[in-house]
Amino acid sequence: MAHVERQQWDVVVVGAGGAGLRAAIEAREQGARTAVICKSLFGKAHTVMAEGGIAASLGNVNEGDNWQVHFRDTMRGGKFLNQWRMAELHAKEAPDRVWELETWGALFDRTPDGRISQRNFGGHEYPRLAHVGDRTGLELIRTLQQKVVALQQEDFARYGDHEARLRVFQECTVTRVLKDRGPAGGQRVSGTFCYERETGRFFVLEAPAVVLATGGIGKSFKTTSNSWEYTGDGHALALLAGAPLLNMEFVQFHPTGMVWPPSVKGILVTESVRGDGGVLRNSEGRRFMFDYVPDVFKEKYAESQEEGDRWYEDPDHNRRPPELLPRDEVARAINAEVKAGRGSPHGGVFLDVSTRMPAERIRRRLPSMYHQFKELADVDITAEPMEVGPTCHYVMGGIAVDSETAAAVGVPGLFAAGEVAGGMHGSNRLGGNSLSDLLVFGRRAGLHAARHAAAPGTRPAVSGREVDAAAAEALAPFHAAEGAENPYTLHQELQTAMNDLVGIIRRGAEMAEALERLAALRVRASRAGVEGHRQFNPGWHLALDLRNMLLVAECVARAALERTESRGGHTREDCPAMERDWRPVNLLCRPVDPAPADPGAARIALERIRTEPIRPDLLALFEKEELAKYLAEEELHG
Ligand code: FAD
Repeated sequence: MAHVERQQWDVVVVGAGGAGLRAAIEAREQGARTAVICKSLFGKAHTVMAEGGIAASLGNVNEGDNWQVHFRDTMRGGKFLNQWRMAELHAKEAPDRVWELETWGALFDRTPDGRISQRNFGGHEYPRLAHVGDRTGLELIRTLQQKVVALQQEDFARYGDHEARLRVFQECTVTRVLKDRGPAGGQRVSGTFCYERETGRFFVLEAPAVVLATGGIGKSFKTTSNSWEYTGDGHALALLAGAPLLNMEFVQFHPTGMVWPPSVKGILVTESVRGDGGVLRNSEGRRFMFDYVPDVFKEKYAESQEEGDRWYEDPDHNRRPPELLPRDEVARAINAEVKAGRGSPHGGVFLDVSTRMPAERIRRRLPSMYHQFKELADVDITAEPMEVGPTCHYVMGGIAVDSETAAAVGVPGLFAAGEVAGGMHGSNRLGGNSLSDLLVFGRRAGLHAARHAAAPGTRPAVSGREVDAAAAEALAPFHAAEGAENPYTLHQELQTAMNDLVGIIRRGAEMAEALERLAALRVRASRAGVEGHRQFNPGWHLALDLRNMLLVAECVARAALERTESRGGHTREDCPAMERDWRPVNLLCRPVDPAPADPGAARIALERIRTEPIRPDLLALFEKEELAKYLAEEELHG
């Protein structure tokens, strides 16, 4: 048996983005001894990159806003596939979570009369995003980190040890959620198997409750706004522990990523650019979004440029411009313009603020965008338009969870929050709804994980056999036979297959081909090999991440092939309509044989389940005619 250090905690939180930190703070405040573990440096999670803001119906800029309007917008954005109780809790609790951040020291931009300022974003009826310039995620993480430090100082005063009840393990990766498989344990969570990236040292964090808050999956696609960490680890860890994933076909392609130069392709251009007045034009100079307003949104969006422009000054008497449609609609429109030969020189379209706002205002409202384009593309956005195109940005699918407790379905002791959890956003997320989701469900996950850990009963045990198996799995890339496969090559091929065959516009035959390519890649990945040793070895780390990316990619491709309609972040050229009969259907990805003899064999089985009927008082928030556009016949009359 390998000697692996073990530590005992009550709650282990995997991930130190907004969801993980909010969960950890809550668990610690509930009295649980809490460990947080993150793959990158503490403070460098994806959340830091969030630019636009946090959606919460504070009603500071338009008093008409309230949780019901926010709920309605969220359900419309998700094309009614949202786990409605999550959308309700989110809309109700987001304002409290923003206020709480302020009491912890967050410095939001203000309205002239001193309230937290709120900006417009796609799909939100009122200005709703609390923001800090275009660096909101940075302020969110800074504030949560400050709160962690404050709690650690309290613990030092009481126990003489800053890390007595809340400890952060940074630059450490979890490769397995461990389970007590004994007859008494009955498959409960028992901890995590981890390695330190710098030294390669293995260790185990034993705990009866584990919260997964690992973020997204973007690195499975070639063009993405996501950074190196987003390899779908939490999704895969849950699957391998026996928890199903929900609706993995829904992947958001943000309409505006940089398209040039190639080295920065995919980097995000925040939606705030459009929220603040930026417009999209094609190579003929036409504001083409007016040509792409779908029927379900027609009543809510301006029909002329003049009306759209008036809305910025007088939103109560005008309809919003169609540049602010939900992201899936804008991304598809850009794709269609480029395909029709009306794109920009580098295969995108033009996004212009330079003719819409004075230079000084652009630099003040969008400082990061100004610097991003100046430094990376040598474009001065105060004087010329940006070139933009769709980029893989966010995954709506994720671990199937209980709406109230964030408990993962079927695995006692496992919780999930943030981007890794499914359900909240339905088939398409509205901008700004992620940061609020992290805070609302991060808190809930921390609360219920702490309660679970404090429940009476024996602590689950971590068996030596399971630790040995996890260590052997992690070391396998060092023992690859002759003719080992290069993990970087495999990763590139995976990204190309997903981008080209399961990307923004999908076709049945291409997705079937993607599944074949993924099977072949699984066979080759079983021979992935690396050289050198365990001290900081990025090739080894990637070889381990490949297992996760391949599992997640298979989920996305299988679910996307199964859902024969177009809805939100799932667009099929061969099934272009949104079908009402698919509205009450959720697709669950379940793991099949965890260690098949044939590495190419399918690892995922799909199951169709019915969505829970939407509560009548929530349905009553919508007009009957609107519901008739979305709900299946039996739901309308049931
Ligand atoms: P993350 O912040 O992604 O953190 C994941 C954590 O998990 C990290 O600490 C990582 O190191 C860790 N981790 C991952 N795998 C492992 C492992 N195996 N072991 C240990 N640790 C692991 N949303 C909004 O609402 N508003 C915005 O304005 C906005 N702007 C955005 C701009 C950009 C450029 C991007 C990319 C996204 C934006 N989003 C925005 C989306 C939002 O930022 C993310 O969805 C959100 O931050 C995800 O937070 P999270 O806590 O779930 O995970």
